[in-house]
Amino acid sequence: MLEGLSSQEYHQAILDALKETDGQFYQLLTREYDRRQKTLQLGAAENQCSQAVLAALGSVLQNKTAEGFVGARMHGGCEVVDDVEGAAVSRAEETFGAQYANVQPHSGTQANQIVLTAVLEKGDRLLGMAIGHGGHYSHGASNSFTGKFFEVENYGVDGDTFVLDYDVIRDKAIKFKPKLIICGASAYPRTLDFKRFREIADEVGAYLLADISHISGLVIAGAHPSPIDFAHFTTTSTYKPGGPRGGLILMGKDYVRKIKVGTKDVPLWEHIDEVTFPGVQGTPYFNNMAAKAVFFKETLSDEYRGRQFKIVENAKRLAGSLVDFGYDVVTGGTDNHMVLVNVAKLREGLTGPTAQKCLEECGIVVDMIHLPYESRAAVADGIRLGTPIVTKNGMGSEEMEGIAALIDAVLKRVEVVSDGGYRIGGSLKEQTQGKVKDLCGRFPLR
Ligand SMILES: *Cc1c(COP(=O)(O)O)cnc(C)c1O
Repeated sequence: MLEGLSSQEYHQAILDALKETDGQFYQLLTREYDRRQKTLQLGAAENQCSQAVLAALGSVLQNKTAEGFVGARMHGGCEVVDDVEGAAVSRAEETFGAQYANVQPHSGTQANQIVLTAVLEKGDRLLGMAIGHGGHYSHGASNSFTGKFFEVENYGVDGDTFVLDYDVIRDKAIKFKPKLIICGASAYPRTLDFKRFREIADEVGAYLLADISHISGLVIAGAHPSPIDFAHFTTTSTYKPGGPRGGLILMGKDYVRKIKVGTKDVPLWEHIDEVTFPGVQGTPYFNNMAAKAVFFKETLSDEYRGRQFKIVENAKRLAGSLVDFGYDVVTGGTDNHMVLVNVAKLREGLTGPTAQKCLEECGIVVDMIHLPYESRAAVADGIRLGTPIVTKNGMGSEEMEGIAALIDAVLKRVEVVSDGGYRIGGSLKEQTQGKVKDLCGRFPLR
């Protein structure tokens, strides 16, 4: 009788199998690894998961099809994936101090879609942060399903301070009477006051959704206040804090609160389950769910928790150095992992896209970004920098100052030519690339 490979042999052979059967894609993986290894990763919306998380993603769990939740599946053969989901849920609850966790959402956007579908009917009112002020598409942008099916009002940051003004948000909420308020942002460097948001929501009888995708790692460690018991629902992407791609829905003390569904009163958590499946999604990705669970365990370590504070410290140092070099850092600094810089104010003709491209050519990877109240609607004025990855690889304050100097050398000396074009003169590019390689060589990917 033929015996199959042991699980160990099977899983260890995964990369070799790809190399043998599809050399082109093996090469693409290799190229991406080399790119990350040799260039500075300053994306604020990215992180770097562990090899253990990658192993779970590339595992045999990917092959299991099952709808529903633990103990309530239509498909057979669920004894292992029931254990996977059970462990993932309890680990998520422990990680975030939550009463309820749903580990099935395929992404942060889908986590939001599930919550919106659960509490809003077509045409209901939603108050969210404007996309141009740092909000996310799924918070009511006109080109997202959230802007298509619901009536949306936006709040934004103050025109002088670029910080949220909660009195203005309250006034808007009182006038607009939304059924749901969304807080949380993709481009906002300051601490969010979840307690205040809940007070506003309670005053107008709205549900509150806190989307902490960008800051959930900081929230886990206590480097940013937690919304879990203030918001009715908390959602996050799982890759931004350093796990696999995917989404998560959490609830704190409101999880058993009743919501009217048809003629019945149903606990919120039960309704969120129902809307997840069959409401919005089909089968969950069990390999991804296992990877989330592996990541949640990692977040309990001292290393992970300490690192989140270091990420903030590094971002503050990076922001401070850029201010010293004469940059307009939005709000003058940061409370979290991201630094927003208005590069259009630095030099005539310089734009976010040009800054992103010329920095990337020199080995420094950043995101271009639209800033509130910017000068031209069509072209982004800013860049967004983040410190999660460089911090994970061991860099500290000295390196942050070095990175600010590298960015400054490029942005002050690049020649801006017409319409988005630029020239990097002399040996600036080679010099910067060399320094970046050197720096990355001292802090290799972990
Ligand atoms: C990144 C982000 C999301 C989206 O997550 P995806 O998994 O990419 O869909 C949602 N909300 C906010 C605030 C984000 O920053």
